This record gives sequence, structure tokens and C-alpha cells, in this order.
Amino acid sequence: GATIGMVGGGQLGRMFAMAAARMGYRVGVFCGSSDEPAAEVAAFTVCGPLTDHSAIEAFAKRCDVITLEFENIPADTIAACSKHAPTYPDASVLAMAQDRWIEKTTLREAGIPVAGFEPVHDRETVVAAGEKLGWPIIVKTCRSGYDGKGQHRLNSPDDAASVEWAGAESGGDGQPPWVAEALVPFEREASVIVARTLDQRVETFPVFENDHQNHILDETKLPADVSPEMETQAREIARRVAEHLGLVGLLCVELFVTKDELIVNEVAPRPHNSGHVTIEACATSQFEQHVRAICGLPLGDTSMVVPAASMLNLLGDIWVAAESHGASPNWESCLETPGVALHLYGKHAAPAGRKMGHLTAVGNDLPEVSERLRLARERLLGGLG
Ligand code: ATP
Ligand code: MG
Ligand code: MG
Repeated sequence: GATIGMVGGGQLGRMFAMAAARMGYRVGVFCGSSDEPAAEVAAFTVCGPLTDHSAIEAFAKRCDVITLEFENIPADTIAACSKHAPTYPDASVLAMAQDRWIEKTTLREAGIPVAGFEPVHDRETVVAAGEKLGWPIIVKTCRSGYDGKGQHRLNSPDDAASVEWAGAESGGDGQPPWVAEALVPFEREASVIVARTLDQRVETFPVFENDHQNHILDETKLPADVSPEMETQAREIARRVAEHLGLVGLLCVELFVTKDELIVNEVAPRPHNSGHVTIEACATSQFEQHVRAICGLPLGDTSMVVPAASMLNLLGDIWVAAESHGASPNWESCLETPGVALHLYGKHAAPAGRKMGHLTAVGNDLPEVSERLRLARERLLGGLG
């Protein structure tokens, strides 16, 4: 069998490796240390920092194709990989995904609907951006933000004093370190995962509906509560993004759903937290689809195999709360809930806010599924005092 290289050792890499292994591939993981979630399920692991080109090239030489599970990989690291094996997504897709300014300008040029945005360098330019876009605005660092980190909501010019504008890094000459966005009055948030192959075949998954708590994804529900027209439109947008970028692999498009339109928030060129629900809910999981896409196999059937499904994240907060009672999460009680699938990522420390695992349930009726799943999660802290 062929060997697939995965750059990155987190839970996305772990679930990818598990799907690939099931399909008969050997998976090698390149990551920082051998106890990371993906390393523990890989056929082999090469450890080192992403800047260690000799380690990366030694890794790449053992692989037939290479992919990744996070977008903040230095361009020259990807270049080092692609000397030895096809590497997907390629450097241009990564450059776009690493910088919100490039991301938003690329999407706008492609005719994809995005919220109004303006470049921000300092306090003066953010005030000008607010006047142009209309207050309130959301400002985000252009690089390396996730789970809402590096974001500020500014309600008026007065709020501009509270942000340390020199604290964000620019992606290159003349590029802004921050971007200001108009606040989108969304009714719900959604995402669409799209896969594309080197020979230009494309498949999209059904639309997922996402609820965030404290800027971190909490629940993903399927089917999304959107009209059939919006469902089609959202999947069409994802397809256009993938085609415009010349993507090979998997990409998630995050969307705001307003009363009558869809607006793209951001994209991620990899498996996505909202796609975990596909493991139980769809004929093909996002991880298997990723394997198929980068290996040039036929893309899988993305349709739902159940009428309704929901996924709830398990954050480190649960471990922290259990620990405060001198206990561990109550897995026995949680797993007594009928039809709940447990996924744990094997992380060795559980600080608040860290994604430790998730639960998925499926059924006939979405409110019932969602309620049963919440009960299962609550039971993790049941009977602890
Ligand atoms: P991640 O990569 O983990 O999804 P992130 O740090 O890249 O998060 P965004 O996805 O840009 O952050 O924003 C996080 C959340 O903040 C969004 O899901 C949405 O709930 C809210 N948000 C962001 N931008 C806007 C906006 N322009 N209008 C309204 N809400 C917004
Ligand atoms: Mg993001
Ligand atoms: Mg996001």
C-alpha cells in the first residue's frame, strides 16, 4: 500500500490517519512530539519543528503523497515537502488561508459574497474603517487567529484606544496586520465542506449548522435549518471557492446565514471541526473524503445516512470542573445514554477551552437528537457533588 504523510499531530490528523489506515494506507505523521494525538495512531512519526528542513525532507522521502491538518505551515516547509512527493493543498492555497487580508481579497475577486472589510494598520486607520463600514465593526488579526483569538468588537471610535495595534504581525510588504469587518447580523452560522481532486472532480457535503459558545464551536447540527434554495446556494459557493483556488484536497467554507443571504466568513483548507459529524451521519466521512481527494480516488457519496445528527464538542472545561471535585468525567454515565458515539483525542492535558473530544448522536428528529446529546454531555459531570 501507499504511504500518506500528514503534517501536524492534532485531532484532525488523528482522525484522518484512522480513516486512511482503514482504507489500507500507511500514514506517517510529522509533528512536534511523539505523544501528540495523531502520532499515537500513526504507522510512523517523525518529530521536529516545522522549520527543521532536514527532518521534514527525511519525512517527505518516505511518503507517496503529503497533506496537512492546519494551515499555518511555513511556505518553505511545504516547498521542502513537495520536492519529494505531491503535497496538497499547495503553497498558493496555504498563503491565502494563512492571511485574512489575502483570503478576503481573493474571495471578493472571485465574486464570492463576503462582509465589507477594510485594512487596518493602527488607531487612525481603524477609525477610518469604522466610518466607512459603519459601527460596530469586528477587527481581526490577519494571521494566526483561531477560536476568536485576536478579535475585538469595536462599537465606536472610542473603543479604538483599547487595542494594542502594534501587537499584530503583517504578512508582507504593504499588507495590513489587521482587517476590519462589518458586523453581520446573522440568524445562524453554517459551513460546507468541499472536496476536489487533481482531475477537477468536486463533491460537497450537506450544509452543517453551527452554534458557537465564547467564539468556540459548540454544536454542529445536520440538516441545517435553511431553505432548500439556500442549501443549494451554499454548496454552490463552496464549489466555486474550491474551483477558484484550484484546490486539491478538502476545504471548509464557514458561512453567515442572514434573513435572505449567505456571506462567507472564512475558509480552512483541511478537515474541519464541524465536519466531525460526517463520521456517523454521512455515507463518507470528511476524513475518508480527504484521503480519496488527495489520492485521486473516486470521491465518496456525501449524502446523509440518517435523517438527523448532531455533534457536541468536549472542551477541557469539563475535565477542569471534574477535577475541582477531585474526580474524572463520568464516562459510565455519559455512555449509558442511548446511541451516543464518543470520540476522544488522547490529549494528555485538559486546560479550559482545549478541544479534548466530541460526542455524536443520530436519529429521526433533530431536536430529540440534540437534547439526548446534551444530556449525555451533562452526565459527564453528573453525581460529582
Ligand atoms: P475559527 O478559525 O476557530 O473558526 P476564528 O478565530 O478564525 O475562529 P472567525 O471564524 O473569524 O474566528 O470568527 C469567530 C466567530 O465570531 C464567528 O463564528 C462568528 O460567530 C463571530 N464573527 C466573526 N466575524 C463576524 C462578523 N463580521 N459579524 C458577526 N459575527 C462575526
Ligand atoms: Mg479561523
Ligand atoms: Mg471561524
